[in-house]
Formats: sequence, structure tokens, C-alpha cells
Amino acid sequence: MEKKQLLQKLAEIVGKDDIRTSEMQLQEYSYDASLIKGKPDCIVIPESTLEVSRIARLAHENHVPLIVRGTGSSLSGGPVPVRGGIVLLTTPKMNRILEIDIPNQRVVVEPGVITLQLKNELAKYGYLYQPDPASEKTSTMGGNLAENSGGPLCFKYGVTTNHILGAELVLADGEVINVGGKSLDNPGLDLIGLVTGSEGTLAIATKIILRIMPKNEGVKTLLAIFDTVNDGANTVSEIVKSGMVPSTLEMLDNLAIKAVETFYKIGLPTDAAGLLLIELDGLNDGLDRLAGQIIEICKKNNAREVSLAKNNAERDQLWTARKGAFGATGRLRPNYLVNDGTVPRTKLPETLRRVGEIGKKYNVEIANVFHAGDGNLHPLILFDERDKDELARVHKAAFEILQVCVEVGGTITGEHGVGVEKLGALSLLFSPADLNALRKIKRVFDPDDILNPGKLILMESESSERKEVVYA
Ligand SMILES: Cc1cc2nc3c(=O)[nH]c(=O)nc-3n(C[C@H](O)[C@H](O)[C@H](O)COP(=O)(O)OP(=O)(O)OC[C@H]3O[C@@H](n4cnc5c(N)ncnc54)[C@H](O)[C@@H]3O)c2cc1C
Repeated sequence: MEKKQLLQKLAEIVGKDDIRTSEMQLQEYSYDASLIKGKPDCIVIPESTLEVSRIARLAHENHVPLIVRGTGSSLSGGPVPVRGGIVLLTTPKMNRILEIDIPNQRVVVEPGVITLQLKNELAKYGYLYQPDPASEKTSTMGGNLAENSGGPLCFKYGVTTNHILGAELVLADGEVINVGGKSLDNPGLDLIGLVTGSEGTLAIATKIILRIMPKNEGVKTLLAIFDTVNDGANTVSEIVKSGMVPSTLEMLDNLAIKAVETFYKIGLPTDAAGLLLIELDGLNDGLDRLAGQIIEICKKNNAREVSLAKNNAERDQLWTARKGAFGATGRLRPNYLVNDGTVPRTKLPETLRRVGEIGKKYNVEIANVFHAGDGNLHPLILFDERDKDELARVHKAAFEILQVCVEVGGTITGEHGVGVEKLGALSLLFSPADLNALRKIKRVFDPDDILNPGKLILMESESSERKEVVYA
């Protein structure tokens, strides 16, 4: 179909005011928070499931790629239209919280709802949606579903998939189906489990059913400072071994501490090798005792200093620093690559040592910000994309870090997804038979590879031989 005709058909579905085609608008939607780029043919803004369904049918019948986009905060190229096509925006019009059912602890949202917007609304009732990606101020619930997002609180409460119970989905051919439901154990195959984390390649979520929880009565936030990263990592292992389940165990290494302190000026010691942010939540009764036990474990593992946030203002300051750590570190050089791998918690010291060696080998600076409780590392590799030699070294270093993660028994992404960035790293983890099984599932949902093509699962004919992380 000619582009002009396609635009006409789309205008019949959403109205011509909800289609964007100017060069500036196309550029605006040709990237995400990585450096991967790809220009769409047009942008479309639906307001209902029916419109999404009609757009999908049109794309399917005409073999035009269809890419759903939340706010584009993906770090792996997820919503970038690398093969052109239609970019479907959820935020402008599909952004309503449809139902808040406190007695049954469920909510139903449209995909364009911003994560923090939902949390703020639930706070009015004393309730919480637990997953807390650091990007929650901007990310959407559709994006969280598609990337199976994690965050600091996920150590205790689980990642997005543990909180999504059901969804209304538009399939590649426009068919609308409902999967899962409001119960915890829904009959049939676990299709909602399959679609969560499928990065927009299997279906488009148009409504999402979530589990919510009452806000905890009390919270204690501790900050421990270490002279070696090993001591910090050993502290994490010992806390977990003790049977305590803090809601958060987050770590920053020296370079990240320096970056955060330079930006936020909250008094962090810039000579420390690592800091650990530990949070406990639950009933007030007993929290002091648990905090005391944690302080003892920190001291036993050579913490130079352990302090307890005295009030909400101090706690908020620590969290602002943690959640802003990527941005603060990013100010050190023109660009940074956020690597994302997961290792068994006990392998953190070895992995961090090897990450440091990789940095030296390729002469690149690496800061580490990580969800230590989950063994989820985020080595931030700093560089200047105009320096092609440095960029090539960054690609190699990032790939080797993922190799190390897999070698020590971990995996190639903890929460940021495969997208385009990690296609070349899939073979570190998956056998040819494993990859074929994924392709078969993709074909069942989307036989013509219309939904977000070129991401997560490549068809046999397009398999990447590139043994590196694709960043730009
Ligand atoms: C500074 C920063 C910090 C971050 N911190 C975290 C973190 O702590 N934890 C974490 O997990 N991630 C983090 N991220 C990554 C990112 O924010 C998350 O992956 C987020 O869930 C993406 O949401 P989005 O709305 O921006 O989605 P987009 O980037 O727009 O899209 C992401 C993917 O979701 C698909 N998608 C979007 N909506 C739908 C839908 N309705 N149906 C089907 N597919 C859909 C898209 O096609 C794409 O493949 C961070 C990113 C940044 C920039």
C-alpha cells in the first residue's frame, strides 16, 4: 500500500488530527533512552481498544511494522522503529485509571498511565503498586508490562510480572482477547505471564489488571559506607542469609558515589569504595530490632559508618540520590551505556572485580549502580560517541561484561530487556533449540512479524552474527 493511502486509512480510524507525519515529529519518535535510532513512517494516536484493533488489522493486512510506544524511556532500543512503520502512542489518549477496587486490592489501567501517576493516586487510599523502576516518573504501565520492569523494591515484592494479573490485548491481526483476570490463579495457559516482558513483539496491551497492596505502617532506611566493594557485597549476602527480607538492598560504587555527591551534595563520602542503601518496611513493631541486627551485620563486615535516616526528609534525600544516580553519572561524560546483567548474589564480588578488569582492558570508565539484593548489576560505561574508537571499545566491554554474567551463572538482562541492544548476546544464554522455541511462539502470535520487528526475537533468516552489544 502506498504511504498516502495508508495515512488516509489511518485517518479514517483515528481522525486526521491524531496522525503525525512532519519531519520534526518523525524525528521525535525515532529514538529512546539508548542511542539506537530508526525513523517511523508515521505516528498515530488512538483513544480506544477498537481503534488500536483497527490499526493493527490495517498494519497486518498491509505488512507494515507496528510499534507501540509509551514514553520511550527504554534503554535497549525497545520502541525504536528500526524498520520504519507506524508508531502507536498510548500516552496522549489511553492514559486513564479505569478502576480502583480497594476492598479486592485490584486496579485496572490503560497502558499510557504513568507509573508514578498510579502510585500517587493509590497513595490517597493508603495503597501501593509495588514495582518501582527508577524511571517511574516517566515510564508507562504498558512499557512496564512489556519490559517486565524491576526496581529497588522488587527484592522483597517481586518484579512487574508478580503484580500483573490480567490484560486486554490486541493481537497482530487486530483480534481482541482477554488473558488472566482478577484472581490470583486464573484457568488456562498463563498467557499474561508470556506477554509480560515480551517487549511489544507478541501483542498490544490496551487494559492492564494489577494487584495492589496496603502501604506499610513503618519504614527504616539505613546507609552503610564501605572501604571495599567486597565488604558491601558480603554484607548483602549475610543479610539475606540471616533470613531478613529488607525491601531494598541497593549499592553504588566509588565513581557513582562521586557523581551523585557532585550533583546532589548530600554529604556522601567521595573516598568510599561503596555504599549500601538498605530499607526495611512492615509493622512498626520489630523494625527497630531488625535495623539493629542489620547494623551489626554491616559492622561485622567492616562498614566504616552506618546511619539511620532520622526523618522522611533524610530518607527522601537518599532515594533521590539513588534514583538520580544514572543521570548524575551520565553528567561525567557526553554519553553512557547502561549495561544490565544479573548474577547470583554470592557472585557479586567476583563479577564486580571482573567488570573492573574489563574497564581497564578496554580503557573505559565504568561506574556501578546496582540492585545488590537481586544480583542485578548496572555497570554504566562512560564515553563520547563522537570518538569511534572509544565507542568500539565500549561495545566490546559491554559484551564481555554480559559474558561474565552468564559464566558465573547469571543472565544478560535483569530488567531493561533485549530490544535491539542485546540481540547479539542472546546466543550466550540460549541454545539454537531455545531460540527456535521462542520463534515458534512469536509465529503463533504474529506470523508475519508485524509487531515490533527486529527486537527480542529475530527470525532464522535474520539471525545476528554480531557478537557484541549494539548501542548505536
Ligand atoms: C534513567 C532511567 C532509569 C531506568 N530505571 C529502570 C529501572 O529501575 N527498572 C527498569 O526495569 N527499567 C528502568 N528503565 C528502563 C525503562 O524506563 C523501562 O523499561 C520502562 O518500563 C519503559 O517504559 P516506557 O513507557 O518508557 O516504554 P517505552 O520505552 O515506550 O517502550 C518499551 C517497550 O514496551 C513496548 N510497549 C510499550 N507500551 C506497550 C503496550 N501497551 N503493549 C505492548 N507493548 C508495549 C514498546 O513497544 C517497547 O518495546 C530506566 C530508564 C531510564 C532512562
